[in-house]
Amino acid sequence: NADAAMYHAKASGRNNFQFYTQELNGRTYDYLMVENQLRRAIERKEFQLYYQPQIELASGALVGCEALIRWMHPERGMVPPDRFIPVAEDSGLIVRIGEWALIEACRQNKAWQEQGLPAIPVAVNLSPAQFSSSITATVEIALMETGLSARHLELEVTEGVVMRDAIEVIDTLRELKRMGVRLSIDDFGTGYSSLSYLRRFPIDKLKVDRSFVDEIGADVDDEAIASAIIDLAHSLRLKVIAEGVETADQARFLLQRGCDQIQGFLVSRPLSAGAMAEFLQTWRADTGQALLTSYHDV
Ligand code: C2E
Ligand code: MG
Ligand code: MG
Ligand code: MG
Repeated sequence: NADAAMYHAKASGRNNFQFYTQELNGRTYDYLMVENQLRRAIERKEFQLYYQPQIELASGALVGCEALIRWMHPERGMVPPDRFIPVAEDSGLIVRIGEWALIEACRQNKAWQEQGLPAIPVAVNLSPAQFSSSITATVEIALMETGLSARHLELEVTEGVVMRDAIEVIDTLRELKRMGVRLSIDDFGTGYSSLSYLRRFPIDKLKVDRSFVDEIGADVDDEAIASAIIDLAHSLRLKVIAEGVETADQARFLLQRGCDQIQGFLVSRPLSAGAMAEFLQTWRADTGQALLTSYHDV
């Protein structure tokens, strides 16, 4: 194991003695394995996007979907993003992987529209490392190459992104807005505590983090936070969506508090492109309303 780690440390160009004497542990070995394999994965096109539907609570209508990346590893099978996105971010590989995800999401959404399926926006997650000024050029190219209209693309950024380097970030977000792209803040409530940026940034939507939704019905403090985020969003004339909604009880609570949209296993797990096409074809608003009145929980 130690030899292998040293081999991988050298192979990845980190010929740094301290690196593998002090940090020779499972995480380091794993990290280097993943990094090497990620490089190959880009060339071998081992990534796929899954899509998770987003539903308007009051009507049950399908209003969007989020693209979620998967790594189809030749030996390990499907690897979830939490297992490789941190390594991709650290190593800088996220820029190329993220570019691929952006173009693929636009291409797929345009293809669905050309098949006559309902036109909805697709949301793509952006890592902080992708969020340099060149992101606007990347987005422009993705839209131009695929023919997707900007209003059918949404970009999700985290609080960490908007807190950094404020002036440049504001300019970039404004430029994206000018292009007609929608912007949302992902995992809202888990990042920095300063809220002043919210009124200065041209954001359309807040995504209530799953951790506050989980405990609805069980923890009054989490219920209070979820409710406060919904009110905050509306005070600032933003839409708000709750992530990770798994039960009809959670959905009913959120509806009662005025939450606009939900995303989660209650409606659907993330779907392959083929399964999402079927979802687009078969979903009716009354299907969504039935979910709320049922006792169907996952
Ligand atoms: P996220 O953007 O907050 O995405 C929501 C995550 O919650 C997804 O995990 C989704 O599968 C999961 N989820 C949705 N509904 C439920 C539910 O009802 N219950 C539970 N327990 N989980 C639910 P996933 O797909 O594993 O993605 C994890 C994270 O990886 C994402 O969190 C996002 O931060 C990141 N990620 C995914 N795709 C990309 C990408 O293309 N680029 C970048 N930079 N990051 C990505
Ligand atoms: Mg997201
Ligand atoms: Mg999230
Ligand atoms: Mg996230």
